Amino acid sequence: MNRHKVLTLWNGEQLNEQDTRILRTPCNETPVPFDAETRQAIRTLAEAFLERDDAVGLAAPQIGIGKRIIAFKFRNFEDKDAATRKEDYEILVNPRITQKRGEPVVGEEGCLSCPEIRVEISRHPEIKVRACDLEGKKVTKRYLDFAARVVQHEMDHLDGKLIVDYEGPVLIPKKSQGFFEKFFQNK
Ligand SMILES: [Zn+2]
Repeated sequence: MNRHKVLTLWNGEQLNEQDTRILRTPCNETPVPFDAETRQAIRTLAEAFLERDDAVGLAAPQIGIGKRIIAFKFRNFEDKDAATRKEDYEILVNPRITQKRGEPVVGEEGCLSCPEIRVEISRHPEIKVRACDLEGKKVTKRYLDFAARVVQHEMDHLDGKLIVDYEGPVLIPKKSQGFFEKFFQNK
């Protein structure tokens, strides 16, 4: 059982209005140097991320924290062993993409906040990001390929943007076809 609840747009075939409102609210920049509240938010997000084995990334608004903080795995994606996750993940605060390179590449993405579906999304294969690390130090990072995709996905969350907002083909489970068809018509 996960101790931190991840907010979702729907549960089964039930829309979550309250969660949706939070997930859709753009987050504010976090003041630097960090205050106690931000340090606590970073700890909480790290805990929530590390307790899951079904996520490569998690953004603060997904656990109800309206701050620009993301946690994600940046290497060894095929390795599902919980013990190694601690060495293979990063936290970025106030991340900003300063450079995007390469022809956009299409890939399938899922999201803990949009359970049961996958969407084909086109993302840049190389990005440069300016941010603060978990101690509040300024860092510049470069991410390639799948890591670049994960970071762009998590950064979308900070602006209230989700995979359902992209136009790409959507993969939905057969059993809930009616529900999802209605959802995508009405969005
Ligand atoms: Zn997501």
